Amino acid sequence: MKNTTKALGVLIVAPVAVGIILRSTTDIKISEPFLWVWDRVKEVGLSLVHPVELPLFVILILIFLSGILILIAASKIRKENSEPSFRDYTEDRFDGMVWRWNYQVNGTICNMGCYCPQCDNQLVYTEHSVLSYSDVTHTSFQCEDCGFSVPKIQGDRDYIYSRIRRLIDKNVRNEHYKAVLEQQKPQSATT
Ligand SMILES: [Zn+2]
Repeated sequence: MKNTTKALGVLIVAPVAVGIILRSTTDIKISEPFLWVWDRVKEVGLSLVHPVELPLFVILILIFLSGILILIAASKIRKENSEPSFRDYTEDRFDGMVWRWNYQVNGTICNMGCYCPQCDNQLVYTEHSVLSYSDVTHTSFQCEDCGFSVPKIQGDRDYIYSRIRRLIDKNVRNEHYKAVLEQQKPQSATT
């Protein structure tokens, strides 16, 4: 609400200041090619204010205030634009593993992979079944480089990947990803 008031202030004060400047520069010399454009600009500017006589210091104060308000509004817009997007959320930890992914243009998760939390090598998986020819019941993940392993997780590889995808989707929808990104900030700053 407060920022909206400031933005409105910019909208009101800036045209008034421009109008006043234009009114005080009606005799300005402009080269021929721009004369017509300059006349139209003056007409628009002068139409925004009623002709009034103001001391120079009042004009200067108005210009100064307009500048400040424009800076505040620009700062606000910049801050909003720097808010983290879910597209920045491309890494998290699930089941003791580091998961990374990307997003398609429509926001669908793609290129998902799991990585070793100790050495960052991509993990390989092994599917297990109770009997030789029965359905897969568990999957384990191992790091071929440092020997890290995740004990058997319920479900086959596709089920685990779809479960992780649902967890990521949930974190995006409930905006928990913002807290995750905040936690990741110091780590990325030190690397
Ligand atoms: Zn490893």
